[in-house]
Amino acid sequence: MNKIVDVLIIGSGVSGIYCSLNLKESLNVMLVTKSKLENTNTYLAQGGISTARNKEDIPVFIEDTLKAGQYKNKLEAVTVLAKESRDNIEKLLAIGVNFDKSSNELNYTREGAHSINRIVHTKDNTGESIQLALEKELKQRKNISIYEDTYFVDIIKEENKCIGAVLIKDEEQINVYAKAVVLATGGIGGVFRNSTNQRILNGDGIAVALKHKIKLKDLNYIQIHPTAFYEENNDEKRLLISEAVRGEGGKLLDINGERFIDELLPRDVVSKAIFKQMDKTNSPFVYLDVTFMEKDYIINRFPFIYKECLKRGTDITEDYIKISPAQHYFMGGIEVDLDSKTSMENLYAVGEISCTGVHGANRLASNSLLEGVVFSKRCARFINENIDDIESKIGPTYEVKDTLQNLIKINKNLVIKEIKEQCEEFEDELFDYR
Ligand SMILES: Cc1cc2nc3c(=O)[nH]c(=O)nc-3n(C[C@H](O)[C@H](O)[C@H](O)COP(=O)(O)OP(=O)(O)OC[C@H]3O[C@@H](n4cnc5c(N)ncnc54)[C@H](O)[C@@H]3O)c2cc1C
Repeated sequence: MNKIVDVLIIGSGVSGIYCSLNLKESLNVMLVTKSKLENTNTYLAQGGISTARNKEDIPVFIEDTLKAGQYKNKLEAVTVLAKESRDNIEKLLAIGVNFDKSSNELNYTREGAHSINRIVHTKDNTGESIQLALEKELKQRKNISIYEDTYFVDIIKEENKCIGAVLIKDEEQINVYAKAVVLATGGIGGVFRNSTNQRILNGDGIAVALKHKIKLKDLNYIQIHPTAFYEENNDEKRLLISEAVRGEGGKLLDINGERFIDELLPRDVVSKAIFKQMDKTNSPFVYLDVTFMEKDYIINRFPFIYKECLKRGTDITEDYIKISPAQHYFMGGIEVDLDSKTSMENLYAVGEISCTGVHGANRLASNSLLEGVVFSKRCARFINENIDDIESKIGPTYEVKDTLQNLIKINKNLVIKEIKEQCEEFEDELFDYR
């Protein structure tokens, strides 16, 4: 089957949906996800979304982001991120995201390596509240058609110009021709045994970029989160214990009950310290302690974490939480410019799949959702301004002969091979692949 649209967006997380909502409503848009709309990493986000508090905070926010990223960040992109943060938070509020407030003022929390409280949140399930508000708005847009359970397997190109994509739904191949194709396919955590990410996220966009020699960047910058709930013999995604727990005072202790690190240092530093302490004490975990906080405060501030730990047999108001580090985020990805353009004409990448350069070697906490909104909006703006000059084209494609299961395996292996090559220095069990 062939379909023609103006814009094809692949991915239903914050970056895919927000991009679609910022496109002009005269455009015919198709938004595709391989699963259900909310089966995204966005939905899992807990801690919050950062924003510059005011004009004076912009340079401070920029410096915090650069410092956490070991100054490997792209300064231009970090500046855009900080400067455009506030407007996008306002837009999310207008769309209906219910960030926590007291007396009508936003509540700001703090996470590692932020020098002030500048993270807005909805208790400890910020991602769910963003995802659901965006989905509600999305479903009201008459110009956007939503395709769930629809698998993106390849792009269609003519020389170095993207003219569409090959999708598979219910074992049927759909060739979609579009003037602009936006990849919003998220991270790569699904290829790791030990990750906080949705299991379905295998870096499909990266596999396609590798096949078509689309420029990639910083594939060795993989973030390990210091605090994932420790469970023996668990093959599911790891439960994240948000950095906001440390931001609000949670303490890291080794198995002898001794503190060993400043909990609010950048993630890479804290993860390394935990590994070292695990080694030293010959233990597969360390503890995170919040038992000294008021019980009501814990239950009210971290209801999701409280309930999920309880399900796993830990009452965090009374017991130390066993934690160990886990793969969490991908700073590298498809290289894009400040308008989210890739090295292939008419192909864009937004969100975790993209590498805007804002995170450098290590992402500052709560900067990912922000990157997703800031740069997907810029992407939409660029498309809005330029799409009238692009001709719609139906070009040659091919018949997919492999089964979907086989294609998934091939793409996944391609990503694993590349990551292995790029990350030779990682040897521990975190880099055990599924
Ligand atoms: C547990 C957890 C907590 C987090 N907490 C925070 C936080 O507090 N603050 C913060 O800023 N960041 C946080 N992050 C990171 C952040 O949530 C993600 O980086 C961000 O949401 C990614 O958004 P996205 O739109 O790029 O991708 P996602 O939200 O992951 O969406 C990816 C989409 O792509 C689709 N897709 C993928 N491959 C295909 C394919 N082949 N065909 C069709 N569709 C496809 C998926 O189905 C999905 O719809 C957290 C991440 C995790 C895992």
